[in-house]
Amino acid sequence: MSTIPVKKNDYIEEVYIEDLTHDGNGVAKIDGYPLFIPDVLPGETAKVKVVKTTKKFGFGRVMDRLEESPHRQEPPCPIYSECGGCQIQHMDYEGQLKSKGKHVKDVMERIGKIQDVPVHPVLGMDDPWRYRNKAQVPVGMRQGELVAGFFAKGSHEIVDMPYCIIQHKKNDEVVQLVKDSLKKYGIQPYDEEKHQGVVRHVMVRTGHKTGEVMVVLVTKSAKLPFKEQLVEDLVHQVEGLKSIAHNINSKRTNVIMGEETRILWGERYIYDYIGDVRFAISPRSFYQVNPEQTKVLYDKALEFAGLTGNETVIDAYCGIGTISLFLAERAKHVYGVEIVPEAIVDAKRNAELNGFTNVEFEVGPAEDVIPAWYDRGIKADVLVVDPPRKGCDEKLLDTIEKMKPEKVVYVSCNPATLARDLKVLQEGGYYTVEIQPVDMFPQTMHVEAVALLVRK
Ligand code: SAH
Repeated sequence: MSTIPVKKNDYIEEVYIEDLTHDGNGVAKIDGYPLFIPDVLPGETAKVKVVKTTKKFGFGRVMDRLEESPHRQEPPCPIYSECGGCQIQHMDYEGQLKSKGKHVKDVMERIGKIQDVPVHPVLGMDDPWRYRNKAQVPVGMRQGELVAGFFAKGSHEIVDMPYCIIQHKKNDEVVQLVKDSLKKYGIQPYDEEKHQGVVRHVMVRTGHKTGEVMVVLVTKSAKLPFKEQLVEDLVHQVEGLKSIAHNINSKRTNVIMGEETRILWGERYIYDYIGDVRFAISPRSFYQVNPEQTKVLYDKALEFAGLTGNETVIDAYCGIGTISLFLAERAKHVYGVEIVPEAIVDAKRNAELNGFTNVEFEVGPAEDVIPAWYDRGIKADVLVVDPPRKGCDEKLLDTIEKMKPEKVVYVSCNPATLARDLKVLQEGGYYTVEIQPVDMFPQTMHVEAVALLVRK
């Protein structure tokens, strides 16, 4: 006998939307059974049709919205309903920040079993549009036309994108110019299914403070026809252009860039500033996409670290050394560790560029390098972690418990793994003092958070 209270094609006269999932669907509970419903907001009620059921949850479609949220707004982007890039443009910004704050709090309670920690209101942007410094646009063919844009929700169908209102204007312009040139010379876009064609992605990065522009063309093989003409078109039309690179990715993969990068024109790097620290950014390096909010995030991390100038600091998952150098201004010594070798090359270069002599970087998995440092007698007073979505490796958490830094500052792009790891650290001798969410990705469901932990 089934305990699923609804079946496909049922109509439910009125459901109440309690929450949003991480991909922006509304959640309604029917006798405890969750139904995921697109295009609704928390607090709304609607008549829905059940379109699919599984054992644990189902999906519904809105037939009629009965009560609308005061946070509902007309999504300003013309391709919002098709594009998978943003999930909550139909909610005003105040509503978005509230929702993200609630999400962080809920996850702390549900996954972290942390009831009483202060989760501060989300730090948002004054203008939550056009914030991205990097566009990564897939190129393909749709009905015989070359298109460049975004993958449609839950698919690999490319939606052609005339512009993107969360993207730096410059990036939009450059993507259009590249698209025009590709069409003009008849350069074939890559076909994912057949693994044929030439251009896979166009990547454009613009320095927030410097206005310096980098263009990367990602192709399937080393052959890029009309290379000189493409370069010439860009050089003539793009103000601030500093670098044109060609990256080769011959694999069948979702990973955007391949191993090999050739510089077609200009420099290997562009430069940008966070605060007054200058960073060289190369084509394959990770660099935060929202520079304005990155400053907010790092300032918070710095505040939580509470440095006086005498501390030894470890920055785990350091990328190109952004947080490390931010902290190095106020610490005795900073050790950074990162798994991508090119990022460490950049980190060292960035330290030199800014005249820091109190930082050291090492390549490798944080969960191997930090235990080795510990064995060599290196002990941190403050340990900062900024792991990818999957969170910290258990081995690293074990080492933190052994090393016993006074403070742990945890920067996280995924509240669920943050909560999981905080639970482990709390059981291992730390308590969570406070959590500050920061909105790095307006119009999407993503939320970044910094947590401060202190030894009991
Ligand atoms: N702190 C940096 C980068 C954060 S992104 C910044 O703010 O810019 C997370 C970084 O962790 C990426 O650079 C990724 O390459 C790196 N990484 C992923 N797994 C890792 C591991 N096991 N050990 C060390 N670094 C890792």
